[in-house]
Amino acid sequence: MMIRFESVTKRYPDGTTAVDDLSLEVPRGGITVFVGPSGCGKTTSLRMINRMVEPTEGRILINDEDVADRKPARLRRSIGYVIQHAGLFPHRTVLANVMTVPTLIGWDKGRARTAAMEAIEKVGLTADQASRYPAQLSGGQQQRVGVARALASDPEVVLMDEPFSAVDPLVRTDLQNEVRRLQRELGITVVLVTHDIDEAISLGDHVAVMRQGGHLAQLASPGELLTEP
Ligand code: ADP
Ligand code: ADP
Repeated sequence: MMIRFESVTKRYPDGTTAVDDLSLEVPRGGITVFVGPSGCGKTTSLRMINRMVEPTEGRILINDEDVADRKPARLRRSIGYVIQHAGLFPHRTVLANVMTVPTLIGWDKGRARTAAMEAIEKVGLTADQASRYPAQLSGGQQQRVGVARALASDPEVVLMDEPFSAVDPLVRTDLQNEVRRLQRELGITVVLVTHDIDEAISLGDHVAVMRQGGHLAQLASPGELLTEP
């Protein structure tokens, strides 16, 4: 088991219960998708894995180790994070953007650059594109840069929050295939959040269906969801 949620609850300071007593196991490898309507606690669940959000109750284990016991630098190295609008720095080149994580975790410049170039190549971008600025790339290419940045520190887990929802449908299919290919080739564990049930079924090896109030409705294989009455 890669990631385990043990009775995890998150209440925000304003009293909103975003996640309510969630217990769930994310298997090693493959793509696990959290799906459900807007506001049901998907993003909050994802962000508790890398401690961008701290649980109010319960705990989350990665490889049987409480994430609360992991040093921030180690969490950053071992868990990549991809968001909807890539979140790139506009005044830095693609290469410099992808180097941010390896640099943050203290790798020297040479190592950070090598790791970044490798990650850029992995997502199908060229050295020429690496020297450009984000605005000079298409939306889909920018999202590839976001994925490259998440992969640059050679993580075991990659978290993706609505990674395809800002790009048009044809590009979306390309990116979905790319993520599937990368997951297999690198043997990483991908945890992906989407509100799109079709995407969850086509992309997920395991699907956690959430419902309003931060509850887990069902943990299923895509096949089980398809054959539901
Ligand atoms: P989803 O990703 O499924 O859309 P979220 O995890 O973003 O759900 O949000 C779950 C609930 O928690 C929503 O009601 C949302 O408005 C609320 N919420 C999210 N972030 C915060 C926050 N920082 N402070 C207060 N409420 C929040
Ligand atoms: P996304 O849809 O990309 O997950 P959101 O627009 O839901 O992002 O949230 C953007 C930021 O606002 C996040 O940091 C989230 O935690 C925070 N946030 C979301 N909902 C609320 C809320 N009801 N109250 C306070 N902060 C919130």
